[in-house]
Amino acid sequence: MPVTVRACGAARTVTGLSLLFETPRTRFLVDCGMFQGPKTLKALNWEPFPYRPRDIAAVLLTHAHIDHSGLLPKLVKEGFRGPIHTSGPTVDLCAVMLPDSGHVQEMEVKHLNLRNRRRGRGEVEPIYTANDAVASLRAFRSVPMDRWLEFDELPGVRARWWNAGHMLGSASIELEFQEEETVRVLVSGDLGPDCSVFQHDPQGPEALDHVFLESTYGDEDKPCVDHAERRARLEGLVREAMHPDGALLIPAFAVERTQEICWDLVTLMQSGRIPKAPIVVDSPLAIRATEVFLEHAASLENGRSVRRALRSPLLQFTESGEQSRRIAEMEGFHIVIAGSGMCDAGRIRHHLKRWLWAPEATVLMTGFQAEGTLGRLLLDGKEEVRIQGETIRVGARIRQIRDYSGHADAPELAAWLKARAPVGGSVFLVHGEPPAMEALAARLTADGVARPGQVLQPALDDTFILPKGSPARPRDAARRRPDPAAAGRPDWHNKRAALLLAIEDALEKAPDTAAREALMARLRTTMETH
Ligand SMILES: [Zn+2]
Repeated sequence: MPVTVRACGAARTVTGLSLLFETPRTRFLVDCGMFQGPKTLKALNWEPFPYRPRDIAAVLLTHAHIDHSGLLPKLVKEGFRGPIHTSGPTVDLCAVMLPDSGHVQEMEVKHLNLRNRRRGRGEVEPIYTANDAVASLRAFRSVPMDRWLEFDELPGVRARWWNAGHMLGSASIELEFQEEETVRVLVSGDLGPDCSVFQHDPQGPEALDHVFLESTYGDEDKPCVDHAERRARLEGLVREAMHPDGALLIPAFAVERTQEICWDLVTLMQSGRIPKAPIVVDSPLAIRATEVFLEHAASLENGRSVRRALRSPLLQFTESGEQSRRIAEMEGFHIVIAGSGMCDAGRIRHHLKRWLWAPEATVLMTGFQAEGTLGRLLLDGKEEVRIQGETIRVGARIRQIRDYSGHADAPELAAWLKARAPVGGSVFLVHGEPPAMEALAARLTADGVARPGQVLQPALDDTFILPKGSPARPRDAARRRPDPAAAGRPDWHNKRAALLLAIEDALEKAPDTAAREALMARLRTTMETH
């Protein structure tokens, strides 16, 4: 039996990365990510795994982001008994991020069950709870970087972690399979940009048989801005947002992005480039992640300055729900940083509900906004949005700063792959939306980094044989799950939201009550005859 791989997630989407590798002697995963974004994609989190968790010998984890690690508690809950090998900082970050994710699952299900009860529907269980997540932490084992490692449960496999420059502790994982022939594989994980101010540039080996390459920004060419330029841009945006009765809301990922923004804001205020104003970090997760950052600051670029800024009294961290609610009563200009970065969950939604209608407010997006998320809808200039069942007219200024990316852009991805040459077999593009993957595939071929036909774009549950030095060969896969990427996006939930808004709009614009009633009668007739 040859070495095979199955794309169990992040296949033509940006979330849920998980690759199942099988050899005649063992079976393991690289990453076990949660699906995020549109509801049809999130539904995959409830689907059974396409393998039996107890048959998996180990997990090798690239980094702590939930779209790479988020289903590990479910894996453990459903019978996985092996170790999870990953870098030291990733172990520490997962120890705060996974229980938080469990808490989010519990909250989401609580709200859903409340609604379901009102509609007379049955209750659902969370994918996993905070307790399940805590239980899964026992499986984590910290590994050193840059060194070949062998594991008892993975006979015939060696693995080596390389810095991926994407976030604290992030890595690409090199695999060497010693079967009849020796096959060398590299999984990029998420790759950071060359201009990251926290992380050192990504590294990796040369001469491989197959490479799995992330493609989040495969269709973007973002000139690398240096740190001074980024701060200047942030300075301009904060100045523009400073309304005496307003607020600046910054939806941000709690880990790394929040700390980077805090560092820049505090530095700008301390040097007098922007007036001092309260900066509220409204996220228990960000508080804990900040502690992990302080602990590992030595491994960061600019570590000392970061440590000083994160301890500044200008920063207020709010832990409890009560403290969080009191932010709404704050007077005078203030800045609120809260998750989630794509506005599809978390405390930022309360702040958006409070401020989104107000012209005195500014919302500043700082990260990638996946299709179908509230963040993307706002950036796309939607005049009205729905938050927790309520329609809100957008009055706030919507701005974006793109300089905080944790991801390499297309030229950087191509350069990274070029530095891995020669690649004798296939290049698999994963972790990207189809347009980004198409663009990256075209660029790699046009630039001569990949041969025509060498680049593959696996769909969910596609399985391949990985031979030495020649292209991967597709193979039939048992237990295929429904592929949400094939269902088209935006998904029907987004379309429903748009339809409801259109109906409300039409009713509001109708000249009088009679016209409104006539319209509603027509809608009812259509539904009943459908
Ligand atoms: Zn990531």
